[in-house]
Amino acid sequence: MQIKDGIVTQLDGISIIQHLIPVSNKLARPQYPMKPEYITIHNTGNPGASALANSIYVDTVNSYTSWHFTVGHGEVYQELPITESAWHAGDGAEGTGNRKSIGIEIAEVDRAEETAIKFIAQLIKATGISIDKVVPHRHWSGKNCPRLVLPHWDKFIADIIKELEPKAAEGIKRYKNISEMPEFYQEFIKKWVAAGYIKGNKDGTLDFTEDMIRCLIIAERMQEK
Ligand SMILES: [Zn+2]
Repeated sequence: MQIKDGIVTQLDGISIIQHLIPVSNKLARPQYPMKPEYITIHNTGNPGASALANSIYVDTVNSYTSWHFTVGHGEVYQELPITESAWHAGDGAEGTGNRKSIGIEIAEVDRAEETAIKFIAQLIKATGISIDKVVPHRHWSGKNCPRLVLPHWDKFIADIIKELEPKAAEGIKRYKNISEMPEFYQEFIKKWVAAGYIKGNKDGTLDFTEDMIRCLIIAERMQEK
């Protein structure tokens, strides 16, 4: 993700569409400067309405209702720069939710939540806001929002954390048989097989990762000490 002047200019794997609330809509967009410290999650409460439909609504309503991003499946509409506060948290004109948090509305359409998880992970990386500052709307006002996410809130957060982790499992080498291993490893493995420590799988393969072999070698050295 790249952000310039509070506007997301580039996202990985998700379309970003600028759909800003006009500055002339002074109720929805008072242009109060903001340094965001939190990310607040909502559901639109509008079953089946697309991200675009919700975006058009917030751009035209001009009331004390606004937020920063509307998330659909594979697409995100930006409604306000993240350097301006919005009216979404229900905690008043001076409330931390309204004045210091980025409001994200997840449209109630298929797979929008999946896109939201990927989007929030990128937003965390780009802004430095920590995962414990990602909160549900309920945190600020007690409202049952995001109503579709709250029943599995912990999994939602865990899925964002998963997105943040480097994909460690990719690129680790696996050896099915002794013959595929470097000679240095073969010596050890043959010895352990002969000693009966390693019996292999039913189909006769070993299927060891390089990390597993290295751990075993370290363990053997520790025993020798
Ligand atoms: Zn809400």
